[in-house]
Amino acid sequence: MPATVVGQPLSGNRCQVSRAKRRPTGFHEALIICGMQSDTPSSPNSPNSPNSPNSPNDRPVENPADGKDKPGIALVVVAHPDDAEFGCAGTVAKWAREGWAIYLVVCTDASGGGSDDATDVGLSARQAITATRKAEQHAAARILGLCDVIFLDQPDGLLMPTLELRKMLVRLIRTIRPTRLICQSPDRNWKPNYAIGRHHPDHLAAGTAAIAAMYPAAQNPWDFPDLLAEGLKPHKVRELFVMGAPEVNQVVDITDTLALKIAALREHHSQLGANFVEVEKRIREFAQKNGEAHGLAAAEIFNRAEH
Ligand SMILES: [Zn+2]
Repeated sequence: MPATVVGQPLSGNRCQVSRAKRRPTGFHEALIICGMQSDTPSSPNSPNSPNSPNSPNDRPVENPADGKDKPGIALVVVAHPDDAEFGCAGTVAKWAREGWAIYLVVCTDASGGGSDDATDVGLSARQAITATRKAEQHAAARILGLCDVIFLDQPDGLLMPTLELRKMLVRLIRTIRPTRLICQSPDRNWKPNYAIGRHHPDHLAAGTAAIAAMYPAAQNPWDFPDLLAEGLKPHKVRELFVMGAPEVNQVVDITDTLALKIAALREHHSQLGANFVEVEKRIREFAQKNGEAHGLAAAEIFNRAEH
């Protein structure tokens, strides 16, 4: 077994302070209203989404995590457990070290992530893999220093960017009140051609719903007026980071947190355990490729927009 790497406990002081300062209403009450759970385990089907090794388009390297902003709150929205580890784990681990309070939202229940050879795909088999994958995601989050993992428990493999999902995410944004949002790309990226995981319909749906929730709904009191009536005031997210986007304009140096990214991925035994040597090799190659054009040993890449 690999050595345990660093990591901070979920809900550390940083997270508690941030909650107390930033949350206008009861956090857990808001989650319960939404049918969300922040303290249970789950699991999906993700033919995972390796972070895109596409080139950073010769744009200048900017790194907002390098002192431009004071640490605040960041929200990561993905479809499945392990999606965040593939796409942005080095970045969020870096931000967590800098003092950011980071929350991870997993939209599906992860119930479709069992063995490719499975013949029993019934309810109890799905419940078992859901529990396994939620536990794996919590373990990975601890390694990265995240504050909490919230599961929206939408059916794995069937995620759609519905108004219901948008509303769930608006509720979370207005409750957690993040400065930064990270999500998957709502657009298909055809480079490179072997990154099939990026075409997973759940990934595209999660990206579409997250961006629609950020703008305009989260900041517009006229959208979902019942949320306003509950006391969830509008909130404007200032920065959007999109993983796997067709156009890249942001390169984040993860040289110091690549080991955490790999350690967090290693927690997803049910999806990656059998081939982890190959997974680690591929992740190191992607990170190196992302960084080399900018003189970095390892990087993650995004399309970033200020708002
Ligand atoms: Zn996935």
